Amino acid sequence: MHLEQWQIDLQNCVRTIEELERFIPITNRKHIREVIANMRLAITPHTLGLIDFHNPNDPLLLMSVPNERELILSADELDDPIGDEIHSPISFLTHRYPDRVLVHATFFCAQFCRFCFRRFKTGGATPGPAERDVDRIIEYLHDHPEVEEVILTGGDPFTLLDRQIDDWLKRLREIQSVRRIRFHTRVPVTLPSRVTDSLVGIIKARMDNTHPIYVVTHFNHPREIAPENVTAIAKLVDAGIVVRNQGPLLKGVNDNPDTLARLYKKLVDIRVVPYYLHQLDLAKGTSHFRVPIERGLTIMSALRNNITGIALPRYVLDVPGGKGKGDLCKSRDLAAYGDPATSSPWD
Ligand SMILES: *Cc1c(COP(=O)(O)O)cnc(C)c1O
Repeated sequence: MHLEQWQIDLQNCVRTIEELERFIPITNRKHIREVIANMRLAITPHTLGLIDFHNPNDPLLLMSVPNERELILSADELDDPIGDEIHSPISFLTHRYPDRVLVHATFFCAQFCRFCFRRFKTGGATPGPAERDVDRIIEYLHDHPEVEEVILTGGDPFTLLDRQIDDWLKRLREIQSVRRIRFHTRVPVTLPSRVTDSLVGIIKARMDNTHPIYVVTHFNHPREIAPENVTAIAKLVDAGIVVRNQGPLLKGVNDNPDTLARLYKKLVDIRVVPYYLHQLDLAKGTSHFRVPIERGLTIMSALRNNITGIALPRYVLDVPGGKGKGDLCKSRDLAAYGDPATSSPWD
């Protein structure tokens, strides 16, 4: 069987403690084994090449190498922090806002982030939608013409095969009421070899002037923007695909205005539009990555004065229990003008 380079790269990911030990000494094997039983381990060859393994606090290392602090559970943490399941009328589909839905096309990712908010699904080998699930999703969309936008998410939909991605696009395009399709993917960051001419061609062929396809990717640190990533993004943008960026505020990774300014400036320079900076969701075992909202607001204020407006994302919170996203800076901005009606940032 002929494998493409990205598939060979996937085969060469670090997935076991033994493989990880070739890069970094593991002293607490028993705990790390437990950690990766909850949230599987995968680090792509691309990321392995960018991590500074001599620095235990390297941001890229913190995001991908399992840590025993993931075993610490804080009382406010939840299995399903943003309430995917509460708003799931059928399997693999989340419908919280009237005009758009999330479709979980797979729960596999090229690389598994140690701070993943959907780890209750992605952490183990949870199967993705079978053929009859896909049929049901398509039927649901036919029955709900108020849904104008389908967000293919996961896991990571760019880990699907070209033929599977084309199938999704073909079937979604057949639904008159679906005007926009979005991919939420970290593959341009972790596995840039996946952004092949063939994949880009498939996406381009399913777009027209009034039916766009968007990609929302997930860079968290300026050092994640390596030459291979620049090339992957350029292929998408050159094809007419608008690429935006969302990611969480992460302690020890990007929780200072300087790092975020460098990240967002680099992103606009490679034609990626910063979209959301997320307050980290309350997923189990992620407290060591959490930054207080107050600190996040201070960072945003510092950023606002120092970078171009086109590089500034919105700082948002997905309110626990599936209540939806709210803009965290809104109340702060209004308060600066003396508006008293600002007690809750998401109403
Ligand atoms: C975040 C989210 C979306 C997308 O929201 P945007 O603000 O349009 O990016 C859609 N559905 C659900 C359930 C979500 O959590």
